[in-house]
Amino acid sequence: MRLVLIGPPGVGKGTQGRRLAGSQGWALISTGEILRTAIANETPLGREARTIIESGRLVSDGVMIGLVEERIAEPDAQSGFVLDGFPRTIPQAQALDAMLDKSGQRLNAALSLKANEEELVTRLSARRECSVCKRAYNLVNAPPKDGRHCDDHPKVELVQRADDAPETVRRRLDVYREQTEPLREYYRRQGRLREVDGQGSMDEVEKRLAQVITALQVDAGLEPV
Ligand code: AMP
Repeated sequence: MRLVLIGPPGVGKGTQGRRLAGSQGWALISTGEILRTAIANETPLGREARTIIESGRLVSDGVMIGLVEERIAEPDAQSGFVLDGFPRTIPQAQALDAMLDKSGQRLNAALSLKANEEELVTRLSARRECSVCKRAYNLVNAPPKDGRHCDDHPKVELVQRADDAPETVRRRLDVYREQTEPLREYYRRQGRLREVDGQGSMDEVEKRLAQVITALQVDAGLEPV
């Protein structure tokens, strides 16, 4: 299956995308993670993206579309993928439809995760990640075992993403409302939108998503995993 996850920052796209792709054997393509890796490696893309990301704005459509077009052509994405963080604008969604169309493929669904803004701000301020495996933790709801280090990398102290600073979070929520929220209507018109409540624990949201995926697999005549 080919799926996109849309939703505001902090709603759990990364966590749920990782679980979903892992359980189904699909490629997880997180554009935010690709950009953060490029920043850490100081590549030309990373140098271009750094100040944009830290200010909470979006990297240009042209750069992002090129990056995703290359990534979804890689072998591991042929059996299916979950896109986390792309598309984020209408031109990106149109470009994704066009690039899939060119290779006779199509998107199965856009999964829209929702949560109220207060919960998002609270979650983002408590979010920490492992710089090695990128696993996300929440210091309040889902802390690491010792409170500070990654469970799978006990020497690695968890860090806060630069763009999770409170003033940047506000900007990212504004950008989401203005530029990304309209995608819900775009996919609704195509009959591909599936809304999922993103509130509650990670396990609860995962169960809701799994039900939607099973229904999609049945509709597509596929054997649910
Ligand atoms: P995320 O990890 O998805 O929250 O992405 C972190 C940041 O990377 C975003 O706030 C944007 O600055 C940038 N970014 C990620 N994906 C995209 C995209 N599809 N289009 C533009 N900018 C993006």
